[in-house]
Amino acid sequence: MSDKEKPSENSAEPTTGEGALLKPRVLLVEDNPAVRNMILDFLGKRDYEIFEASNGLEGLQIATTEKPDVILADIIMPEMDGLELINRVREQPGTMLIPIIVMTAVNNLETKINVFKAGGDGLLIKPFDLQELQVRIERAIQVSRNFMKLTYVDSLTGVYNRRFFDDRLPTEVNRTRRYKQPLALVMFDIDHFKKFNDTYGHRAGDFVLSSLAQHVKKSLRTQDIVCRYGGEEFTVIMPMTRGEDAAMVMSRIRADLNDRFFYSPYDKQDFNIRISVGISRHPEDGMEADAVMRAADEALYEAKETGRNKVVLYNPASNIFKDRISKLKF
Ligand SMILES: [Mg+2]
Repeated sequence: MSDKEKPSENSAEPTTGEGALLKPRVLLVEDNPAVRNMILDFLGKRDYEIFEASNGLEGLQIATTEKPDVILADIIMPEMDGLELINRVREQPGTMLIPIIVMTAVNNLETKINVFKAGGDGLLIKPFDLQELQVRIERAIQVSRNFMKLTYVDSLTGVYNRRFFDDRLPTEVNRTRRYKQPLALVMFDIDHFKKFNDTYGHRAGDFVLSSLAQHVKKSLRTQDIVCRYGGEEFTVIMPMTRGEDAAMVMSRIRADLNDRFFYSPYDKQDFNIRISVGISRHPEDGMEADAVMRAADEALYEAKETGRNKVVLYNPASNIFKDRISKLKF
């Protein structure tokens, strides 16, 4: 991916991992090659990532794995028609909210009613003007993005939330595997956060959580995906990155925090916090998202157990995590 260093296309978004990774994604489902090519040609000139399918069944498969921002679908198609495609997309939790715009040459009341009953969001009667198609797509993408923001952004810190992380990590692991690239997964948390809250109160706790999240996000590249995993725990998915490079970057951030103070206007006070960091690698530490996650968690545990305020790259030979398990069993 040559465009991975490209800056965010929409820097007003309170999110990370924008840009190349999250270019608007359009799925076109149409069995007529002439119509398909005309639309592809038109959309190809815009900054979209486009997926194409020649029937409903193929379209459903792509919708399920790729989760596009919007689906453009014909009605009369072999294998599975457009109405059945809408029904199936609406049934699955992972795709149920994707806007669907239907294109058909059948211009009658029954068709219109069937499209909207099935859960279609828009209808274009062929032949339609490509400019109208363009505004319909843009609007659908806006709806999709607003929904994503509500669903996937942590309201306190402005970085992605746990739900986004759980959805995204398998996708990123699969994607980097397809390109035979490495991926690093970072897990970090604030040292002695409970004590901090007990000492300064939860409002100050919220302040440092949000200050830290924004500081880390600003210190990383646009393609790095910062998430609040829960409480004072954060994760960063670093696609196309070696674990050693992730460790270097996180070491710099960790060291810098030792001398950094976040000033809270509410508390009229400077706060200084420390973090512990665990890092795992794909493919070395796991081929699947679950294994990569477990390894990062173990590395973070090791960082905590061996003195905190440090960065630990997962080491499968380390016994620290195994000791924890045996303690738990006891
Ligand atoms: Mg057709």
